[in-house]
Amino acid sequence: MCGGVARWLRVLGIDATYTPGIEDQELVRQALDEQRVVVTSDHKILERRLFTTGRLKGLLLPVGLRRDDQVRRVVTRLRIQVGFPRCARCNGELAPVQRAEVADVVPARSLIWAKDFFRCRACGHVFWEGSHWRRIGAVRAEMAARTAAAADNGAAEGG
Ligand SMILES: [Zn+2]
Repeated sequence: MCGGVARWLRVLGIDATYTPGIEDQELVRQALDEQRVVVTSDHKILERRLFTTGRLKGLLLPVGLRRDDQVRRVVTRLRIQVGFPRCARCNGELAPVQRAEVADVVPARSLIWAKDFFRCRACGHVFWEGSHWRRIGAVRAEMAARTAAAADNGAAEGG
Protein backbone atom coordinates (compact mmCIF):
# COMPACT_ATOMS: atom_id res chain seq x y z
CA MET A 1 0.00 0.00 0.00
CA CYS A 2 2.91 2.33 0.69
CA GLY A 3 5.28 1.42 -2.13
CA GLY A 4 7.29 4.63 -2.13
CA VAL A 5 7.76 4.40 1.60
CA ALA A 6 8.86 0.77 1.31
CA ARG A 7 11.58 1.75 -1.18
CA TRP A 8 12.94 4.40 1.16
CA LEU A 9 12.84 2.11 4.15
CA ARG A 10 14.93 -0.41 2.19
CA VAL A 11 17.45 2.28 1.40
CA LEU A 12 17.65 2.86 5.15
CA GLY A 13 18.46 -0.81 5.57
CA ILE A 14 15.02 -1.79 6.80
CA ASP A 15 13.55 -5.09 5.66
CA ALA A 16 10.34 -3.86 4.00
CA THR A 17 8.05 -5.84 1.70
CA TYR A 18 5.45 -4.30 -0.56
CA THR A 19 3.01 -6.07 -2.86
CA PRO A 20 1.01 -3.81 -5.19
CA GLY A 21 -2.72 -4.57 -5.11
CA ILE A 22 -2.46 -7.15 -2.33
CA GLU A 23 -5.79 -8.18 -0.73
CA ASP A 24 -6.26 -7.19 2.90
CA GLN A 25 -6.65 -10.83 3.91
CA GLU A 26 -3.40 -11.81 2.21
CA LEU A 27 -1.58 -8.80 3.65
CA VAL A 28 -2.61 -9.76 7.16
CA ARG A 29 -1.67 -13.43 6.62
CA GLN A 30 1.76 -12.44 5.31
CA ALA A 31 2.32 -10.09 8.23
CA LEU A 32 1.49 -12.88 10.67
CA ASP A 33 3.68 -15.42 8.89
CA GLU A 34 6.66 -13.12 8.67
CA GLN A 35 6.07 -11.23 11.92
CA ARG A 36 5.92 -7.90 10.16
CA VAL A 37 4.53 -4.56 11.18
CA VAL A 38 1.80 -3.42 8.79
CA VAL A 39 2.28 0.16 7.63
CA THR A 40 -0.84 1.44 5.92
CA SER A 41 -2.96 4.48 5.17
CA ASP A 42 -6.09 2.34 5.47
CA HIS A 43 -7.40 2.69 9.02
CA LYS A 44 -10.02 0.00 8.35
CA ILE A 45 -7.35 -2.71 8.25
CA LEU A 46 -6.02 -1.60 11.62
CA GLU A 47 -9.49 -1.98 13.15
CA ARG A 48 -9.32 -5.75 12.64
CA ARG A 49 -9.21 -7.93 15.75
CA LEU A 50 -5.63 -9.02 15.09
CA PHE A 51 -4.52 -5.44 15.59
CA THR A 52 -6.88 -4.40 18.37
CA THR A 53 -5.86 -7.49 20.38
CA GLY A 54 -2.18 -6.81 19.75
CA ARG A 55 -1.41 -10.00 17.79
CA LEU A 56 -0.29 -7.84 14.91
CA LYS A 57 1.42 -4.50 15.07
CA GLY A 58 0.25 -1.76 12.73
CA LEU A 59 1.14 1.84 12.02
CA LEU A 60 -1.20 4.29 10.35
CA LEU A 61 0.25 6.73 7.84
CA PRO A 62 -2.24 9.57 7.46
CA VAL A 63 -3.33 10.22 3.89
CA GLY A 64 -1.70 13.34 2.46
CA LEU A 65 1.51 13.12 4.45
CA ARG A 66 4.56 13.91 2.31
CA ARG A 67 6.83 10.99 1.42
CA ASP A 68 9.68 12.26 3.60
CA ASP A 69 7.33 12.73 6.52
CA GLN A 70 5.92 9.25 6.03
CA VAL A 71 9.40 7.76 6.20
CA ARG A 72 10.27 9.87 9.27
CA ARG A 73 7.09 8.77 10.97
CA VAL A 74 7.79 5.09 10.39
CA VAL A 75 11.41 5.34 11.57
CA THR A 76 10.63 7.32 14.72
CA ARG A 77 7.37 5.59 15.72
CA LEU A 78 8.81 2.12 15.29
CA ARG A 79 12.21 3.19 16.71
CA ILE A 80 14.01 1.64 13.78
CA GLN A 81 17.80 1.59 13.62
CA VAL A 82 19.14 2.67 10.25
CA GLY A 83 21.32 -0.04 8.75
CA PHE A 84 23.20 -0.93 5.59
CA PRO A 85 20.96 -0.28 2.55
CA ARG A 86 18.91 -3.07 1.03
CA CYS A 87 17.82 -3.25 -2.61
CA ALA A 88 15.24 -0.51 -3.21
CA ARG A 89 13.66 -2.62 -5.94
CA CYS A 90 13.15 -5.98 -4.30
CA ASN A 91 14.29 -5.74 -0.66
CA GLY A 92 17.21 -8.10 -1.32
CA GLU A 93 20.61 -7.80 0.38
CA LEU A 94 23.29 -5.72 -1.34
CA ALA A 95 26.81 -7.04 -1.73
CA PRO A 96 29.81 -4.86 -2.61
CA VAL A 97 31.24 -5.56 -6.05
CA GLN A 98 34.39 -4.47 -7.85
CA ARG A 99 34.26 -1.75 -10.47
CA ALA A 100 35.45 -4.19 -13.15
CA GLU A 101 32.57 -6.57 -12.42
CA VAL A 102 29.94 -3.96 -13.27
CA ALA A 103 31.69 -2.16 -16.12
CA ASP A 104 29.13 -3.50 -18.59
CA VAL A 105 26.07 -2.15 -16.74
CA VAL A 106 27.23 1.13 -15.20
CA PRO A 107 27.38 4.21 -17.50
CA ALA A 108 30.98 5.21 -18.28
CA ARG A 109 30.73 8.53 -16.44
CA SER A 110 29.49 6.91 -13.26
CA LEU A 111 32.06 4.19 -13.62
CA ILE A 112 34.76 6.85 -13.39
CA TRP A 113 33.28 8.94 -10.59
CA ALA A 114 31.57 6.47 -8.31
CA LYS A 115 33.61 4.92 -5.53
CA ASP A 116 31.44 2.07 -4.36
CA PHE A 117 29.32 -0.39 -6.30
CA PHE A 118 26.80 -2.87 -4.98
CA ARG A 119 24.81 -5.68 -6.51
CA CYS A 120 21.55 -7.05 -5.18
CA ARG A 121 21.90 -10.73 -4.24
CA ALA A 122 18.27 -11.33 -5.17
CA CYS A 123 17.49 -9.44 -8.39
CA GLY A 124 21.02 -8.58 -9.53
CA HIS A 125 20.34 -4.85 -9.89
CA VAL A 126 23.50 -2.74 -9.57
CA PHE A 127 23.63 0.40 -7.42
CA TRP A 128 26.43 2.91 -7.17
CA GLU A 129 27.32 6.17 -5.56
CA GLY A 130 25.96 9.10 -7.56
CA SER A 131 23.69 12.09 -7.25
CA HIS A 132 20.83 9.84 -6.17
CA TRP A 133 23.10 8.19 -3.63
CA ARG A 134 24.01 11.57 -2.12
CA ARG A 135 20.36 12.30 -1.47
CA ILE A 136 20.06 8.86 0.05
CA GLY A 137 23.11 9.62 2.21
CA ALA A 138 21.49 12.82 3.46
CA VAL A 139 18.26 11.06 4.39
CA ARG A 140 20.17 8.22 6.05
CA ALA A 141 22.21 10.66 8.12
CA GLU A 142 19.08 12.47 9.23
CA MET A 143 17.30 9.27 10.21
CA ALA A 144 20.34 7.96 12.05
CA ALA A 145 20.50 11.22 14.02
CA ARG A 146 16.80 10.94 14.85
CA THR A 147 17.03 7.38 16.11
CA ALA A 148 20.15 8.30 18.10
CA ALA A 149 18.26 11.20 19.69
CA ALA A 150 15.34 8.90 20.45
CA ALA A 151 17.73 6.45 22.10
CA ASP A 152 19.24 9.22 24.24
CA ASN A 153 15.80 10.19 25.45
CA GLY A 154 15.03 6.65 26.46
CA ALA A 155 17.69 4.42 27.91
CA ALA A 156 19.72 2.10 25.69
CA GLU A 157 22.98 1.80 23.88
CA GLY A 158 25.39 4.50 22.84
CA GLY A 159 27.58 4.64 19.76
ZN1 LIG B 1 17.01 -6.48 -5.75
